[in-house]
Amino acid sequence: METSALFAALDLTPDLISGGTLAVHSPVDGAEIARVTETAAADMPAVIARSQAAFRAWRQVPAPRRGELVRLLGEELRAAKDALGALVTLEAGKIASEGLGEVQEMIDICDFAVGLSRQLYGLTIASERPGHRMMETWHPMGPCAVITAFNFPVAVWSWNTALALVCGDPVIWKPSEKTPLTALATMNIFARALARFGDAPEGLAQLVIGGPGVGEALVTSRDVAIVSATGSTRMGRAVGPKVAERFGRSILELGGNNAMIVAPSADLDMAVRAIVFSAVGTAGQRCTSLRRLIAHNSIRAELVERLTKAYGTLPIGDPRHATTLVGPLIDHGARDRMLAALEQARAEGGTVHGGRTVTEGVPQGGAYVSPALAEMPGQTAVVREETFAPILYVMGYETLDEAIALQNDVPQGLSSCIFTLNLREAETFLSAVGSDCGIANVNIGPSGAEIGGAFGGEKETGGGRESGSDAWKAYMRRATNTVNYSAALPLAQGVKFDI
Ligand code: NAD
Repeated sequence: METSALFAALDLTPDLISGGTLAVHSPVDGAEIARVTETAAADMPAVIARSQAAFRAWRQVPAPRRGELVRLLGEELRAAKDALGALVTLEAGKIASEGLGEVQEMIDICDFAVGLSRQLYGLTIASERPGHRMMETWHPMGPCAVITAFNFPVAVWSWNTALALVCGDPVIWKPSEKTPLTALATMNIFARALARFGDAPEGLAQLVIGGPGVGEALVTSRDVAIVSATGSTRMGRAVGPKVAERFGRSILELGGNNAMIVAPSADLDMAVRAIVFSAVGTAGQRCTSLRRLIAHNSIRAELVERLTKAYGTLPIGDPRHATTLVGPLIDHGARDRMLAALEQARAEGGTVHGGRTVTEGVPQGGAYVSPALAEMPGQTAVVREETFAPILYVMGYETLDEAIALQNDVPQGLSSCIFTLNLREAETFLSAVGSDCGIANVNIGPSGAEIGGAFGGEKETGGGRESGSDAWKAYMRRATNTVNYSAALPLAQGVKFDI
């Protein structure tokens, strides 16, 4: 689709995409594709006040009715899937099928949240006192700020928003300053759902555009009950303490440094496919991308040989072409950081395959690279950092204990996996003495999670959980209720206090 037709299909009218101060560049060729208007700092109090007003109305709407709005959003996303997926490709540089996959993930979480809107269950609890009943009830929290990263420019908003809306919380979204167009398009799609829904309060889902300064207004406001922030650990270090200082609730989804252990019994054909997808998919720009390969010394050389061969045939180029598997990095800064990390890997004793700037057979102006494999003498300083690019560090091991220790010996704790056909190894990896990550898989790579599970990680990944399972509880407050239906007033723990 031509860019102008794409913009028209997503209601990106000239007033939305021109005349502003924030230039939007496509990573495909570096060309400027829009200039959007940034939200002024002076406007933030009004945005937050609108959200508070929306909260007072929305919390009274029955949850299944709130779910109806999310059901309509899912329908509108289905109708707009092709266009929004193509815009993700244009603005974030993802290959076409990953752009569409991102929108599918939005649809999936809407379906999940619609069901959830009838399942916001609390427990009933046995009381120790006669004639008493205890229970838990869950209530909406208040406005939820959603700060998102460039690499999942729309899916992360939907993970948060679909849940927040059924839980009774309005949303204020601050997307990455690198991807405001997909955010504007998503809000237009949401507006279609709102129009069909009819009576939602104004300001239920708002968008603010700009850099960290705009995010900070949300982070520091006592009127923003929840701050869900996705991005680098550096960002989390700035945001987390500020939210904690005012006793707000934060959901932090930060950087990862994900590993795969390949055991001697592994099905190497499967392992190779999983490694290539998870290390080079999205050009290594997923929080769950595979960055460390911990291969048993008996199969390490064979694995590296097969991977080097597979890497040599990867189609790198325009992400809009159906045959491309590796698109561009988000910008030239990301490319420079990748090349610097590889330089450091060499200085630390590594042998690097690939990892070069690619200028032939690709659109000019974009930051295209060949994915890199770096054979390392151990888990050196560069390996312990997240470089947001397609670099796979390879290390060897002898015993499973050693492999698990290496896997856990990094500051991040997002995703992990083991390839093995040995039941003892697999179960040990998943046990309390195994992986310390929020996601631990067997015979599946670390990336490409489904929405049904809780998503997030430990340590410097921030500890937050989003998406499926009971992640909804982070968007609600829990009240413990004790009801006395007797004619007496017994005290707990047998305490006597007669007056
Ligand atoms: P980034 O940290 O540069 O920016 C993320 C968002 O935070 C942007 O919207 C940015 O404007 C905002 N921000 C930055 N500093 C802020 C501050 N002080 N106050 C308020 N807002 C602030 O990250 P990026 O380069 O866009 O994305 C890549 C990073 O995101 C990687 O580290 C990746 O692992 C991580 N990520 C994590 C997850 C996850 O679920 N764990 C998902 C996607 C991306």
